[in-house]
Amino acid sequence: MMLLQESLLTMTNLVLFGPPGSGKGTQAAFLIDKYELIHISTGDLFRYEMSHNTKLGQEAKAYMAKGELVPDSVTIGMLRNKVEKHPDAKGFIFDGFPRTIPQAEALDALLFSKGTEVSGLISLDVGDEEIVQRILLRGQTSGRPDDNDEATVRKRIAVYKSETAPVFGYYAAKDKGFSINGLGTIDEIAERLSDAVESIGQD
Ligand code: ADP
Repeated sequence: MMLLQESLLTMTNLVLFGPPGSGKGTQAAFLIDKYELIHISTGDLFRYEMSHNTKLGQEAKAYMAKGELVPDSVTIGMLRNKVEKHPDAKGFIFDGFPRTIPQAEALDALLFSKGTEVSGLISLDVGDEEIVQRILLRGQTSGRPDDNDEATVRKRIAVYKSETAPVFGYYAAKDKGFSINGLGTIDEIAERLSDAVESIGQD
């Protein structure tokens, strides 16, 4: 029992945070390789459900197209199912979740029930105009309807500021909030991110 407890406590659970288009997906790919963590992107999960036209996908579609958040009740259940599928994980990278304070509370409760917790949240800081440019550029090839229309992109930024940004303060109050400059080359940002992860690891 003791051993089990100890191994659970050594999990590394990172929240990759930042506005839409800040590079979370790109950097998550680098982190999973380096730290062997399971990557959970709620945006990717919703897009998968939509492409298979499941009930969940149909539910999420209208919200996503408008740049709004999918309701917490739907999102939290989906996240929990995904975490439950990896009982032996060394840890997780949460990308695009939590996006509201209730989601953060639900994540804390879920991890607590498994004897573990969020190790740290790392925010990629990128300004609004840079984000709009990046997302519209991505929209030319991503096939994502929510990336193609400037008004939808700006709506996502507004939702980020009002509903998601407070999640940073929630973890900062527990000394678990870190932010790094999200401008630069992919390698430069990956390096800053590694430094942040190592500093979290030493806590
Ligand atoms: P981005 O970070 O570029 O906005 P995502 O792929 O993370 O892209 O999310 C796309 C959309 O999926 C969001 O605008 C939102 O509608 C929905 N979504 C993703 N994650 C969540 C979440 N945790 N809670 C509610 N809605 C979400």
